Amino acid sequence: MARYIDANCKLCRRENEKLFLKGSRCLSEKCSFEKRAYAPGQHGQNIRRKVSEFGLQLREKQKVRRIYGILERQFRTYFAEADRKKGITGENLLQLLECRLDNLVYRLGFAPSRKAARQLVRHRHFLVNDRIVDIPSFQVKVHQIIKVKEKSKSLDVIHLALKETRGESIPWLRLNKAGLEGELLEIPKREDIPTPAQEQLIVELYSK
Ligand code: SF4
Repeated sequence: MARYIDANCKLCRRENEKLFLKGSRCLSEKCSFEKRAYAPGQHGQNIRRKVSEFGLQLREKQKVRRIYGILERQFRTYFAEADRKKGITGENLLQLLECRLDNLVYRLGFAPSRKAARQLVRHRHFLVNDRIVDIPSFQVKVHQIIKVKEKSKSLDVIHLALKETRGESIPWLRLNKAGLEGELLEIPKREDIPTPAQEQLIVELYSK
């Protein structure tokens, strides 16, 4: 499956905000955005005074896509599914993205970033309801249990990430740190999704 392999920090600089794609490095002084808060490339420092409506919508879509680490085609598929579902399309879209297995592994605190979570899932370190799932985009359903595989319980990357304990502060997730498992308690409401996005702009962009 295709994936983005260029430098992550360029994405933050392009979106002109920290997207927190590299775990603890993002909170340290090594963060590239702290040193060079302008777009990458030869003309990155040229200031554009006026951004069009389309430009705003496009940037918002790119930002959300990059936060969750999803390429354009798959993102469009998510949007089409969100549009088909009952309810508010923008909220549906974020809910679909949040219920991806790689995102939940990250939110529970088993990985320092979504990219690391994706790799751990691909390397078959996680079980969903006692069955190995190695598909990062797997949609986790309410009350399914995500668990670290017995043989993988000694992995340093998981224990180091868990020290940050993000899962405990997210109301729609239950984390059992000692047992290295977590549960999706409910589909999150928009106000409980800590993603800094104006999803309505994405809906407007794709509805043209
Ligand atoms: Fe973005 Fe993190 Fe890189 Fe900083 S360190 S630019 S927040 S990915």
